[in-house]
This record gives sequence, structure tokens and C-alpha cells, in this order.
Amino acid sequence: ADTRPLLSARGITAGYGRTTVLRDVSLSLDAGATVAVLGANGAGKTTLLRTLSGALRAASGTIELDGVDVTAAAPHRRARAGLCSIPDGRGVFRNLDVRDNLRLAVPPWSPSGSWDAALAAFPDLRGRLDQRAGSLSGGQQQMLALARAFVAEPKLVLVDEVSMGLAPRLVDELFEALASLAAAGCALVIVEQFVQRALALAPHVLLLDHGEVVYSGSASDVDEQQLLGAYLGAE
Ligand code: ATP
Repeated sequence: ADTRPLLSARGITAGYGRTTVLRDVSLSLDAGATVAVLGANGAGKTTLLRTLSGALRAASGTIELDGVDVTAAAPHRRARAGLCSIPDGRGVFRNLDVRDNLRLAVPPWSPSGSWDAALAAFPDLRGRLDQRAGSLSGGQQQMLALARAFVAEPKLVLVDEVSMGLAPRLVDELFEALASLAAAGCALVIVEQFVQRALALAPHVLLLDHGEVVYSGSASDVDEQQLLGAYLGAE
């Protein structure tokens, strides 16, 4: 049997210029699994997602995706290996309409894509296919960003702060969509400011404190004191 993890990041050190943000961070994720990356503001959560997506190059360590070493690979090569990134800036093409945003998410090697799944998850977008993405509300743009992930049928989706600035009802809808991506067998790495929402979705937790992993394991075994400590002790 193939027991190799889908994602294996080992000993990642990364930062900006002379500032080291992540220190010796390791993260392993099986196909279809979901992990929540938790930690206070500035703990390095976004930096970790950017290092995994290839937006930021790791200073040291290795990243393997589906058995392929992508440590030095550009973001588009990681995308080809099955990775989809939803950055906190939403990641949609604002000047294109919804239809073209979805069209461009269809990978060349999977010509049909799964439009039906995307539009079923976000019926609100169905009537807006001709609308320019930049004219959508923040919540609708976030739906579109997630719908693009449905269309691309990736093996792994990195989600940064999907709920940022959105009304609770919308956040519910986005988390339902994330849950259905996970149910379809897609692995997720989520960064989420609402810890309870993250824990409800993710069976696994990676807790960062000042760029270091202080807990990695099952969400049900996470030590509340340690969790609180990582949040309260910061900055
Ligand atoms: P938040 O919840 O505030 O987004 P985070 O855990 O995602 O926090 P990061 O955004 O990864 O944290 O930031 C970690 C550290 O890196 C912070 O001290 C931040 O100031 C610094 N940092 C982030 N982006 C840059 C950048 N482009 N250049 C320099 N330093 C940066």
C-alpha cells in the first residue's frame, strides 16, 4: 500500500530578508486530510502557506507534494502537482467576469473541470457568470475564489482566512463549501482566525508560536492551556 503523505514539509525555515519567521517547521498531511494552522497574529501562519504555495521560497528545508520535491518549484509547477492556493487577498481576476475566472481555473490536463460542483456549492454565482469579479461583494469574491478551487479539482487547497471581514451567514456557507471539498477527498490546510470554526472542520492541528511548532497532532488532543498560551503570549 502507498502510505506516503500527500504533503510533507520538513524543517522549513523561511522569512523576509534578514527576518526569519518560520523556524524548523514540519508538516505532514495525508491525502484527503484537513489541518488547521493556528497561532496568534504574527505567528507565521500566512508565511507558512506562502512557503507551501511557492509564493515565498524556503531558506531551508524540503517540501514534497505527492512524492515530488517541489522545494524549489515555482507556484505554477506546484499547481500542476495538484496544489491550489486561496490567498487572503481572495485570488480572483478582478477585471474578468465570473465565467472567465472559472474557465481559467480549469486545468489543461482535465479539460472538463467540475463546473457543476462549483456552481452547486455556490448557487449565488450561477446568475452572475457575466458579472465582472471586481464588482462582486467581498463575500461573493471569496465564493468565487473557492469555486475556482472546485473547478480545478486539486489534491490540496491552502486557505488563508476565508472568513476575513465577512458576515457570519456567509462564513457558514464558505465553511460548508470547504467541508464538501474535504468530503470529496481534497486535502486542506486552513488558516482561520475563528479557532472554533477551524477546529470544527479540521481533525488535525498545527499550532505555531513565534514561528515554531509548539503542537502538531489531533485536534481533540490539543492542550487548551497551550492553545491559549500561544495566543496570549504573542507580541
Ligand atoms: P496574521 O494572523 O496577523 O496574518 P500570521 O500568523 O499569518 O499572522 P504572518 O503574516 O506569517 O503571520 O507574519 C509573520 C511575521 O512576518 C510577522 O512578524 C510579520 O510582520 C512578518 N512579515 C509578514 N510579511 C512580511 C513581509 N512581506 N516583509 C517583512 N515581514 C513580513
